Order: sequence, then structure tokens, then C-alpha cells
Amino acid sequence: MSFELPQLSYAHDALEPHIDARTMEIHHGKHHAGYTSKLNAALEGSGDEGKSIEAILGSLDMANMGVRNNGGGYYNHCLFWEVMTPNGGGTPSGDLANAINEAYGSFDAFKEAFSKAAATQFGSGWAWLCVHKGGKVEVCATPNQDNPLMPGVSCGGTPILGLDVWEHAYYLNYQNRRPDYVSAFFNVINWDAVAAKYAANK
Ligand code: MN
Repeated sequence: MSFELPQLSYAHDALEPHIDARTMEIHHGKHHAGYTSKLNAALEGSGDEGKSIEAILGSLDMANMGVRNNGGGYYNHCLFWEVMTPNGGGTPSGDLANAINEAYGSFDAFKEAFSKAAATQFGSGWAWLCVHKGGKVEVCATPNQDNPLMPGVSCGGTPILGLDVWEHAYYLNYQNRRPDYVSAFFNVINWDAVAAKYAANK
């Protein structure tokens, strides 16, 4: 049983003007597809076939760059597509809102911390909102296709919101203006999906 590229639940142009259709086509159809096929190739004969991606990353040998880069790339992009929606934006409610307020004082302060993590990640990487067991949330960032599920990586916990800050995620529309892309991302966040991930992993 090998990993498969997930279908998007919205059209390539559905996130415009915040994320353009051409970027979505290449990002999903080329980049994510590439991580998926290379992950399957890297797992061949490893004994890890059939395990969940979370289990594979959680017990990863960090020196195994094939699985680290491509397994991270597979998982990270799956999460990324799920936490965006054409009717997104706004603010979270309920338990997730309470946890964000507890950790950061307000939604605006959380937004500032997340945006700063995304803007200041040097080179390629991701910004995350993670939940720890017990319900505490935390913002962090990781380089390349690393993520907090991997042993010893950044803040730990389970990612419930992720933002891709590789140039392939924004360069066609935003060129070097990463902060504008980060700001636009807040207009497409699917807070219902993030809240469901919070509830499932707290
Ligand atoms: Mn990407």
C-alpha cells in the first residue's frame, strides 16, 4: 500500500486572489506529487510500508534524508490543503480560540507571532501552530520539509495549521514579498478544519 496524492476539495482557482490558480496547479500537481512518489520509492523495502505517515515521521531516523524530505513533504502538503478553503478567514471559536487566547493573549497577538515565524524562517520551510497533549498551543517554524512530528524538531506536538513558505508556494504571484503572501493566507484559513484537528489531538 503506497501513499497517494490527495485530491483537493476545491478548484485550483478557488483560493484566488489570495493564492493563484497556476501556483496551485504546480504546487499540488508537481511538487506534492513529486514528494509522494519519491516517498514511496524511499520506503520500498524499508519495512515501513503500510504504516501511517504520522507513525513513520514520529519514529524517523533523521539521517534518512529520503524519508525525511519526502515524507515531510507528503505530510506537510496534505495538511496545508486541508487547512485552506475558499470561504476561509475570520477567527476561530470555541476551545481552539480559548487555547490561542491562553497562549498568546489575543487572536491578533497569535496572528502576529505566526506571521513573524513565517516571515523570518530563513530560506525554505514552514510555520506551524501545534497542539500539545493537554491542549496547549504553540507557534514554531521548521526548515525545509521538517515538521514538529519528527524527533527533536522545533516545538513538538501535533501540527494543526501549517503555512508553506517555500518560494514555490508564492513566487509566481508575490515574488519576494513573502509577508504579503503570509497576510493573504489568513483570508483562506479553514478554522473549522483547524478546530477539528485541535479537538482530535489535544
Ligand atoms: Mn510546497
